[in-house]
Amino acid sequence: MKLGVAAALVNDELVPGDVEVAGGRIAAIGLSSPGGRGIAIPGLVDLQVNGFAGVDFSDADADGYRRAGEALLETGVTSFLPTLITAPEDRLMAALREVPEQSEGARILGVHLEGPFISPYRLGTHPAAERRDPDVAMLERLVDAGPIRMVTLAPELPHAHRLIHMLVRREIVVSCGHSDATAEQAKAAFDWGARTVTHLFNAMRPFTHRDPGIAGAALVRDDVVVQLILDGVHVSPVAAQLVWRACAGRVALVTDAMAGAGLGDGVFRLGGFDVTVQNGVARNAGGGLAGSTLTLIEAVRNLHDLGVSLEDAVAAASAVPARVLRLPQAGRLAVGLPADVVVVSEELAVERVVVEGRVRVAL
Ligand code: ZN
Repeated sequence: MKLGVAAALVNDELVPGDVEVAGGRIAAIGLSSPGGRGIAIPGLVDLQVNGFAGVDFSDADADGYRRAGEALLETGVTSFLPTLITAPEDRLMAALREVPEQSEGARILGVHLEGPFISPYRLGTHPAAERRDPDVAMLERLVDAGPIRMVTLAPELPHAHRLIHMLVRREIVVSCGHSDATAEQAKAAFDWGARTVTHLFNAMRPFTHRDPGIAGAALVRDDVVVQLILDGVHVSPVAAQLVWRACAGRVALVTDAMAGAGLGDGVFRLGGFDVTVQNGVARNAGGGLAGSTLTLIEAVRNLHDLGVSLEDAVAAASAVPARVLRLPQAGRLAVGLPADVVVVSEELAVERVVVEGRVRVAL
């Protein structure tokens, strides 16, 4: 099957011509394409999705996962990490057991467990009563209960290094976040093997010139990927430009989407909380931000609008997050790789989504 596109983004380069898909893989690139329309980009990879299209993953069943997964596909996300925020252990265990092994919509790459080992000072919309100091035995139980792929934790908590060592040993990605860590504490965590930072600037010690905190430590650290919610609300455009200048090529766009994403304004659940979405902004009862209604392709457009090239903006939502998960085959288009492809218009609107060579969405 030929996609009928005018160009394709191959290894961060725009290659003119059509793309052929066969046997679930990319068979050829750069074929003659008279009348070809649109650009083939890699399927997008979202590292932080709390919920989508009315579904909150903290209490989703198989049907909920199916609905959210299908809706995510329509936004160009072909694989993602459903994200569970801080909750009582039995609730987390139950939620982990509900994660389907086979996903029908966007592919589930594993769970992002955000908490409960986070700072009491940087809770955001996480329940204070369920926050925990590091407890290796509890984390072992959670890891054994379901397919955890990434854990967000606060590295400055007592004995947090034990959690980090255990996760690194089990090949689970450690992300620092909801943290009051100083730059020195963050640097120690990166040295122990933490490789990324959750929603940079949000729910962490604020960056200042005398106390740069975890954000400052991450910005100057070439082996750390910073995750950014680029919705124009969580991070200002100037801060995002600053981040890009420091971290081009190691920014992973995430949505931190909550159940209201993909729907209009209204009241939705996030973990145990009611969250009100007004004009697309999700807030808890105290007025704090509580996830987003961003889609990942919107984040790509927002980054491109800041002057970042199309190639680099797309990579920030595909190849870079795939790299965080050590999935060299995901988030890239190249001959021989699995055909997870999104066809977008010149304006970066999703037109078609192909998963393992099959057209799943045609808008
Ligand atoms: Zn968070």
